[in-house]
Amino acid sequence: MPFISNVTNKMEGVLKEKNLHVWKADGLPYHILRDASSSFWWFEPDVESEILYTAPRNETEVAQIIRIAGQLGVKVIVRGGGSGLGGVLPYESDVPYVIMDLKGIDGLLKENEKCSLASFGAGTLGIEAERIMARQRRTLGNLPMSLAFSTLGGWAATDAAGHFSTYYGRTSDLLTSVRLVDGRGDIHEFSRTDSDFHLIVGSEGILGVITAVELLTFPQERFWFRAFKVPDMYEGLEVFRYLTELCPAPVLLRLHDPLDSLVSGILEGINPPSSMVSGLLAGLSGFRNTLMPLMLSGGKLLTSWAENILSGDNISPVILLGYVADEMPADTIEDILRDHGAVSLGPAPVLRWLGRRHDMASEVSVYSSAGLMIDTAEFSVPWKFINQVYEDIRDVLASRALTLVHISHPDISGASVYFTFVFKPFSREEYDLLWSDMAQTVSRYSAAISHHHGMGRLKGRFIHLEHGPGVIHIRNAKSRFDPLNIMNPGVLL
Ligand SMILES: Cc1cc2nc3c(=O)[nH]c(=O)nc-3n(C[C@H](O)[C@H](O)[C@H](O)COP(=O)(O)OP(=O)(O)OC[C@H]3O[C@@H](n4cnc5c(N)ncnc54)[C@H](O)[C@@H]3O)c2cc1C
Repeated sequence: MPFISNVTNKMEGVLKEKNLHVWKADGLPYHILRDASSSFWWFEPDVESEILYTAPRNETEVAQIIRIAGQLGVKVIVRGGGSGLGGVLPYESDVPYVIMDLKGIDGLLKENEKCSLASFGAGTLGIEAERIMARQRRTLGNLPMSLAFSTLGGWAATDAAGHFSTYYGRTSDLLTSVRLVDGRGDIHEFSRTDSDFHLIVGSEGILGVITAVELLTFPQERFWFRAFKVPDMYEGLEVFRYLTELCPAPVLLRLHDPLDSLVSGILEGINPPSSMVSGLLAGLSGFRNTLMPLMLSGGKLLTSWAENILSGDNISPVILLGYVADEMPADTIEDILRDHGAVSLGPAPVLRWLGRRHDMASEVSVYSSAGLMIDTAEFSVPWKFINQVYEDIRDVLASRALTLVHISHPDISGASVYFTFVFKPFSREEYDLLWSDMAQTVSRYSAAISHHHGMGRLKGRFIHLEHGPGVIHIRNAKSRFDPLNIMNPGVLL
């Protein structure tokens, strides 16, 4: 019997709903083939290989699939919403594998009496969990831009951070326990007092499958929002840090450079741009005309060119700021910002940004339909090196792509410095070289190569730059939880 039929028969025996499909790699349906990462263009399927796809309905089925996979030498690729930017897809595989889609294990499992803790199936989409919480006027407080298409299990696996992380914390702060089926098919429950809890959160599926999560929940609040123009990124960064350390903590704190403010629509309707800038704006935000592809194909110093044009129109960086309305120290905040030369733009830019923040996926498809690629790099940088990382990474990208930057998710140690870069597709080798240059650059500044998008297959090869000899601890955890080495090949390690 061919190998794949043997695996299929064994797995069908344990899956109640026979939720099993076999596809040729090039025949994979779009929703499985594609993940949100730029990996869709470096994924080169071996069209002859057959791919087994399962969607288990409960934890027992997960455990049984993993045990059969272990017995037959099949690798398991774990998939939540597929929004991970480290790449969720199998690629260049010379061993058989099964994709395990967790979205069938979803919904609210239980709540405590006060509703301050809620357990969910790991495949629950963030937006669905928020809908459930909203019925009790509560929230999980973790609102990543990918809320509509990422799962709570995916958040735990990548330690996702929502844009209100300064106030509520990121996933690792919000989780109180996780259930895991490890690479041997054994089931565990870890609460945050267990040391293994901290290994599982952020493990990106290499130790096993997270099947359920328990999270803190919070009452819904009313917020106060304001946007401020600041004279330049350096002044902006100074006040950004000051506000992070001030009590009470802001709910929202972001610093967008001029191009990012423009393209993300934050500055729309403010400072009416000249005809030149409107042309640029149309090119940048529309990406439908031929201008952008032509400009990007030249490999020119596009970013500084665009910024020179913009500086003529006095378009500056923008801070987006939010507080819980009842905690808002209004006078103090306005005074601090004024002292740094900031000018209030009112709440409208923040509300506009909040209204659009979950639309990024459609934006990505606009770029790709214009023949352009968009990718993101978000480094976790200690405060004292943020300026250098901002400058050096822009230099690395300067001749290759148009670069937009924002700084967000501040905490006591530093912040995420987030680069969005748009480019005309180049070869896989050039793409790998670009990532390698960026990883080498930030490693000089004790920065982590990913703040919240995860490492995945794309960035896993740089893990030694970040952890040095500490990688041994990840390897030890891998051999303990997944001794047969079947979980998520190529991710992280
Ligand atoms: C437009 C866009 C905006 C984004 N915005 C944000 C943001 O604001 N903040 C942020 O933090 N991230 C953001 N991301 C990244 C992404 O949404 C997060 O990494 C998210 O946590 C991934 O969840 P997922 O369910 O889609 O996981 P997937 O993409 O399916 O998987 C990601 C990784 O986790 C593993 N995994 C998934 N589920 C499980 C599980 N149950 N058990 C074990 N391993 C698992 C996978 O194997 C993979 O290695 C964004 C992505 C996109 C495309």
